[in-house]
Amino acid sequence: MKDDKIVDVIIVGGGPIGINCALECKKNGLSYVVLEKGPLTNSLYNYPKNMTFFSTSERLEIDDIPFISKNPKPNRDEALEYYRRVTTSNKLNIHLFEKVISISGELGSFNTKTDIAIYKSRYIIIATGFYDIPKNLNVPGEELPKVTHYYKEPHLYVMQNVVVVGASNSAVDAALEIWRKGGNVTMVVRGAEIGSRVKYWVRPDIDNRIKEESINAYFNSEIEKIDAHTVTIKTPEGYVTIPNDFVVALTGYQPDFAFLKSTGIELSNDSKKLPNYNPETMETNVAGVFLAGVICGGMETHKWFIENSRIHAKQIVNHIAKVEAVKS
Ligand code: FAD
Repeated sequence: MKDDKIVDVIIVGGGPIGINCALECKKNGLSYVVLEKGPLTNSLYNYPKNMTFFSTSERLEIDDIPFISKNPKPNRDEALEYYRRVTTSNKLNIHLFEKVISISGELGSFNTKTDIAIYKSRYIIIATGFYDIPKNLNVPGEELPKVTHYYKEPHLYVMQNVVVVGASNSAVDAALEIWRKGGNVTMVVRGAEIGSRVKYWVRPDIDNRIKEESINAYFNSEIEKIDAHTVTIKTPEGYVTIPNDFVVALTGYQPDFAFLKSTGIELSNDSKKLPNYNPETMETNVAGVFLAGVICGGMETHKWFIENSRIHAKQIVNHIAKVEAVKS
């Protein structure tokens, strides 16, 4: 199928920031299509079922549309409901379950190829986030079915020996939740302590559970290998092998760098892999291609959130509207 109609803007990614870009295009009279490879707000949909945001609901709002939450910090279900409602009540033009494969062309005439169509547009906004590609442990046994990089809910782990890898908010939340449902939890932490960005109201809980040895923790340690019924951990005291049923590896995620590179976007040569964009307009080194949302941080995925990246939509669309106004 080929769609020859040219739109002003193709927005890749239907997360909170892609939706925000769509709202901004609509307000500015720009035609647009959002292409989302999964369900609406796919990343949030795949977050742990019981997760609570660290942001208050006002800070997750887009386009000043009120986000009413019963609690100071909203949970996943409330966020799904909020972004769904914003999308449907504004009748945003979003194609779900349509994956963008490649982007080619140049400013004024881009071709965006998806798994079912080709779209033509004058501009492109890439808001694809970072939640699709886990940072792997790269150890033998990681491919076993008992290993996951996405924690959903604790029930699976009741009365099981579970290793949780990592010390971030996600790892700590999972460890506590699984332990509270009767899982025997061992944390494997590369650093000397629980991560410094762990939510301030959760930190005493995990510190105390480790201190009282309800949750076991190996610090300055890494997984060496995973076998069907055991895990071997490299600790400062030597190798330790423990019985194991499941490994929940929550060591972070990374943007799809191959996709960025194939679009022509330059990345810094260091380990941060920062994409090349103008922080005022969010335009990349490829004229007419913009970045929005948490994708902007490269490997520094803690740098951008919904809170501080929701401004990108306005920056980009104001810039496009200004350029178009000069032309007409
Ligand atoms: P995403 O929400 O990741 O959206 C990107 C979308 O692009 C996805 O839906 C994906 O399916 C789609 N996509 C990717 N590739 C393609 C493709 N090739 N074709 C089509 N579609 C594609 N932020 C806060 O501000 N406050 C918080 O409290 C907070 N808590 C968090 C808790 C957790 C557990 C995590 C993981 C993140 C949290 N964040 C928080 C960060 C923030 O929620 C997310 O990073 C947010 O989803 C970013 O929005 P985004 O639109 O930039 O990216």
